Amino acid sequence: NGWQATVLTIYPGMFPGPLGHALAGRALEAGRWRLDVIDIRAFATDRHRSVDDTPAGGGPGMVMKPDVVAAAIDAAAAGGIDRPRLLLTPRGRPLTQARVRELVEGPGAVLVCGRFEGVDERVVEARALEEVSIGDFVLSGGEIAAMVLLDACVRLLPGVMGAQASGSEESFENGLLEYPHYTRPQVWEGRPIPEVLVSGDHGRIARWRRAEAERITRERRPDLWAARAGGRIDNSQGFK
Ligand code: SAM
Repeated sequence: NGWQATVLTIYPGMFPGPLGHALAGRALEAGRWRLDVIDIRAFATDRHRSVDDTPAGGGPGMVMKPDVVAAAIDAAAAGGIDRPRLLLTPRGRPLTQARVRELVEGPGAVLVCGRFEGVDERVVEARALEEVSIGDFVLSGGEIAAMVLLDACVRLLPGVMGAQASGSEESFENGLLEYPHYTRPQVWEGRPIPEVLVSGDHGRIARWRRAEAERITRERRPDLWAARAGGRIDNSQGFK
């Protein structure tokens, strides 16, 4: 039946958006995944169809109402298979390729997109939402964050990347950033492709790529490098 994503948002018209194009769009058309979008506003109960209210304790902005958001989550869960329920928020655990892989192995995900100052904290507890962040910066809403998460998941679904490697050599998959890539022309603006890559010596090429991946990781992401050295990484995905 395909991997099933349900997105809860007050801007349903934003979907599928970019996910309707290219790899994700073709996979959607082919039925490898399914996207349902639920308009949170449809669960508002007052005559103004309010989804937000002023923050308890005062301060700027508005907060998404717990009753309305919970009703939308319950509608997403109704009759369906049990799926992880994720809330996109800058306060969440940073999304990782490892978590993406786990999600892809499951039946799908329910994604709650915040707006305004975010969602009433009680919904997070009452509906056991897993809080996920896509990085240390603040977006205006959870929709683009949800698209980021879905894009990362969908490309890993069986059959979606086709002949391409399952991504096992990619950045983060083995605790390293990926080595650099080159293609023709052999010399461009006076810059040649590194000699080793045109040598035809596959052993040398593999060693060079490995060394470059290690150098780049050490230089750019001392945090990833330290996690490797400390042996704290998950080796289950083909640590080589
Ligand atoms: N007041 C919140 C805070 O300081 O943590 C920021 C709210 S933000 C303006 C509105 C919504 O955008 C959030 O509820 C969340 O759904 C989404 N959002 C913003 N930044 C995000 C990030 N880095 N990762 C995931 N979602 C994000």
